[in-house]
Amino acid sequence: MYRAAAVLVLLNFIGACASAPSSPSSGPAFSSLALCSGVSISNAPATDGARRIVGYDPQATVKGATLWRAPVEACVSSGYGPRRGGAGSFHHGVDLYTGRPAPIFAGGDGVVAAVESLRGYGKTVLIRHGRGVETRYAHLSAYAPGLKRGKRISMGEYIGRTGDTGNATAVHLHYEILVDGRHHNPLTVGQR
Ligand SMILES: [Zn+2]
Repeated sequence: MYRAAAVLVLLNFIGACASAPSSPSSGPAFSSLALCSGVSISNAPATDGARRIVGYDPQATVKGATLWRAPVEACVSSGYGPRRGGAGSFHHGVDLYTGRPAPIFAGGDGVVAAVESLRGYGKTVLIRHGRGVETRYAHLSAYAPGLKRGKRISMGEYIGRTGDTGNATAVHLHYEILVDGRHHNPLTVGQR
């Protein structure tokens, strides 16, 4: 009887190891998102006592595409919209601070449209989700192996790591959601 139990435990252990990915391959199931502490955030959404966004829905539906509002485990260090105190500078995405390089996951199913370095943005990835819907990921420190233009990608697939390439003062992901080339607030777009 003891022996049977031991075998069962061993089998469970092997099963767990076999299913554990050696590199991140599945997406974030982050049910909540909080604002980073110690920073003043423009266009900050309503939060509770733990700085978590009230009524946060981790997924948005944008023209039929299901997208993560935050495709990385992080806190919000800058919101979308005009920067407070800035001379007319508009922030076209949301900044998701990770502190150190952390895995970034595809915001939705689609096709990789660009893997390139852009001025200010640093290392970027652009994914097309169809019907003019795109997500952009900026300031990466590294790309996932084999990531290239034209690659089909699934929601939650590992695409790279956060970094501070381009104009960045901290390791974070600058995340944009675009529809027909126009930027939308990732935290509120498609809100029901
Ligand atoms: Zn940004």
